[in-house]
Amino acid sequence: MKKKLIVVFDFDGVIVDGLVEYWNSAREACLQLVGDEKYEEQLPLKAPDTFRKIRPWVKDGWEMVLLAAELLRDDSPIKHPKKFSDEYQNNCHKALKFWNWHPKQLQIALDDVRKKAIHKNKAKWLASHYPFSGVVERIKKLNTEHIEWAVLTTKSTEFTAQLLNHFNLSPTLLYGYEGGSKPDVLLKISKNYLIKGFIEDRRSTLETVLDTPSINWIPCYLANWGYLKNNDAQALPTGIQLLKQEDFMYPVADWP
Ligand SMILES: [Mg+2]
Repeated sequence: MKKKLIVVFDFDGVIVDGLVEYWNSAREACLQLVGDEKYEEQLPLKAPDTFRKIRPWVKDGWEMVLLAAELLRDDSPIKHPKKFSDEYQNNCHKALKFWNWHPKQLQIALDDVRKKAIHKNKAKWLASHYPFSGVVERIKKLNTEHIEWAVLTTKSTEFTAQLLNHFNLSPTLLYGYEGGSKPDVLLKISKNYLIKGFIEDRRSTLETVLDTPSINWIPCYLANWGYLKNNDAQALPTGIQLLKQEDFMYPVADWP
């Protein structure tokens, strides 16, 4: 039987700009974890510049809680965002040690804060996410090309489902962080579908796909409208194409 065609989308940075919500939730989760009201004033309500600058390095949601905490610390390397991101993983590792935290506990705190925010005022929570202009409409047209679509995200499935529903989007498949690593999920999807493209705004995730022999044939696209680092769009390896928003509007068969 011929496999159905599918395009797989990352969520945050490809379909929605969730930075404002991420800051709100990460800030709140961090304050709960440090458990001292005196810190509240130190973390601004509006996403600080440093947080925006470092966002392109973030892979998992819990890292943003850690970034918020680092902003509280006077002698944290985060005071120099460029230096911090140059050694991003190492700095996160050190920060976890300093705070004596575990990624799982940060993710639970983040998810709890979100659950509460949704419970308190769902409309407000939904409205703190901004879909990228034209992207939702474009995705809705995929069915005219007889192409299904999936969402593969490091957010939790539950919250992503609520947002997709809010935007009137219903993907054939949805995998949150509970589904496992992105390469593992892509392999799973590829057993039943022919993947026509994987669209991500995190270059290193695409590079991992290229480095994974069982899935390195998947056409990888770097979304130029997402959270890219300065040089991300340059000197892309064979197998990763830069997808400009204007090209994304064309039928999938005409993508670069
Ligand atoms: Mg992303």
